Amino acid sequence: MDQRFDVTERFAQGAQYIAGRLRTGGSERIHAVVDPATGEQVYTYRLAGPADVDDAVAAAEAAFPEWAGATPGERSDAMHRFAAALGERAEELAYAESLQCGKPIKLTTEFDVPGTIDNTAFFAGAARHLEGKAAAEYSGDHTSYIRREPIGVVGSIAPWNYPLQMAAWKVLPAIAAGNTVVLKPAELTPLTSLMFAQAATEAGIPDGVVNIVTGTGLEAGEQLVGHPGVAMTSFTGSTAVGKRVAELATATIKRLHLELGGKAPFVVFDDADVEAAAHGAVAGALINTGQDCTAATRAYVQRPLYDAFVAAVADLMASVRLGDPFDPHTDLGPLISHTQRDRVAGFVERARGYATVVTGGEAPGGDLAMGAYYRPTLITGAAQDSEIVQSEIFGPVLVVLPFDSDDEGLALANDTPYGLAASAWSRDVYRTHRATREIKAGCVWINDHIPIISEMPHGGFKKSGYGKDMSAYSFEEYTQVKHVMFDNTAEVRKDWHRTVFGDRQI
Ligand code: NAD
Repeated sequence: MDQRFDVTERFAQGAQYIAGRLRTGGSERIHAVVDPATGEQVYTYRLAGPADVDDAVAAAEAAFPEWAGATPGERSDAMHRFAAALGERAEELAYAESLQCGKPIKLTTEFDVPGTIDNTAFFAGAARHLEGKAAAEYSGDHTSYIRREPIGVVGSIAPWNYPLQMAAWKVLPAIAAGNTVVLKPAELTPLTSLMFAQAATEAGIPDGVVNIVTGTGLEAGEQLVGHPGVAMTSFTGSTAVGKRVAELATATIKRLHLELGGKAPFVVFDDADVEAAAHGAVAGALINTGQDCTAATRAYVQRPLYDAFVAAVADLMASVRLGDPFDPHTDLGPLISHTQRDRVAGFVERARGYATVVTGGEAPGGDLAMGAYYRPTLITGAAQDSEIVQSEIFGPVLVVLPFDSDDEGLALANDTPYGLAASAWSRDVYRTHRATREIKAGCVWINDHIPIISEMPHGGFKKSGYGKDMSAYSFEEYTQVKHVMFDNTAEVRKDWHRTVFGDRQI
C-alpha cells in the first residue's frame, strides 16, 4: 500500500464539492473524521450549512439543460472516462475508504473500489440503452410513442457503511439518464464521495453535474430533501430516518426512492451442505464488520443440522483475525465509531438476559483497545420475537434459531418488518425454488449470501423501502415516462369531438 496521502492537505480547501470545485462549508459546526481503528482524528472540516445546499442545487440546476441535452453517446463517453479516472486512483480510494471506515484493506481493494469502477463502466454502457416502448397506432387515428426523460436535480442522501459504493449507486444511474445530482454523504465519511466527484470532473463531466454537500442530516439533509429546486430524493439509510425523509419529500411532492434497513434471514434446510452453510453464514454476517444492510443476521437451521451448524460457526468465528485495517491479513476491522460499537454491545448485553452468547460478546483489549472493535458474536436460544432477532443491529452479530418443518422455516424468515435480502441453503431444487417464491425480500440467494453485481437490481420489500439501485431497473427511478401522441387524421373535427359537442358525423 503505497497510495497513502495526507488527507488534511488533499482537502485543505474544504469538504464541499460544488460546481466542480472544493470549498469550505458554511455551517457553524466543525466535524472531525476519525479513524475508528485508532480513535485518532484524521481530518477536520466545516460542515455544509443550508446555504451550501442552496448553492449546490443551483449549480445542479444550471448544469441540467446541457447535460440532459447531451446525446446518450456523449454521456456514455464521459462516463467511460469517469470509470478510467476512478481506476487510476483505485489505490488512493481504497486507502481513504479504509481510513475513514476502518474497513480491512482487502475488502476495499477487492470489493468496494472495483465494484464502484465496474458500476461506473456498467452505467456508461447503459446510458446508451435507455428505452421506451415502440411507437404504434394504438387508437387507429394517432401515433403514440414514449419518451424517457430525466427528472431534473436529484437530491441523494447516503449512509456511512459503504460510502464510495453508495455514492456510485446514487450518482451513476441518475447522471447516465441525464439528471444532475447533489449528494449528501454521511458526515462521518466524506472523503471518498469527494474523490468520486473529483474524478467525474477530471473525466470531463461538466461542473455542477455531480455536487457533494457534507453536512448533518438535520442541517444539510433536511434542507436538501425539502428544497424546491430538487425534483427527486433518493435516500439510503435507516428505516427511521427514511420515514422522516418520506414525510419531508411529500410536502413538495417529490419522487422518492428509499433503500432502508435490513435483517436478512439465512435459512438452512436439512439437506444442505452444513460446512458450506457455516462458511457462508460467517462471511455473510461479518462482511464490513456486519455493517451491511444485506448481512446474514438471523440463521434458521433445520433441527438435524442445528448443532453441527452452531459448532462450525463458533469455530470459524474464533478464527477470524481482528486487526489493523491496513494489514493485508486482517479479516475484521472496527465498527464505524465507538458510538456504534457501544450500540452493538448494548444489544448483546440485553440479549444475555434471555439468550446464550456462544462466542464473542466483547470488545478486544490489548493493541485494539483504542479502536471501535467488537468480537464476532454468535447468539443462540433467543425467541423469535426478541429484540436481537427483530432489530437491525448493524454489527458482527449472528443469531441462530432452529426450525422443524419447511413451512416453519420460511414463515420465520418472513417474520420481521424488513425485506431487503435473504438466502436459502439446500441441495433440493424444489425446496430452493419454493424459498425464492415465498421469501419476501428484494434479493434471495441460493447457497450463497452477499454477492452483488452491476447488472442486477438491489432494493427492498416491506420496511426495507422501495425502488432499485444498480442495473437497468434503476432507470425506472431516475427517469420519467412521457407519452407523445400525434394526430394522423388531419381532420378539423375529430371523431371523438361528438362526446363534447355535436353529433356523430355521417
Ligand atoms: P442513517 O439513517 O442514520 O443516516 C443515513 C443518512 O441520512 C446520513 O447521511 C445522515 O446524515 C442522513 N440523515 C439523518 N437524519 C436525516 C434527516 N432528518 N433528514 C435527512 N437526512 C438525514 O443511517 P446510517 O446509520 O448512516 O446507515 C446505516 C443504515 O443504512 C442501516 O439501517 C442500513 O441498513 C441502511 N443501509 C441500507 C442500504 C440499502 O441499500 N437498503 C444500504 C446501506 C445502508
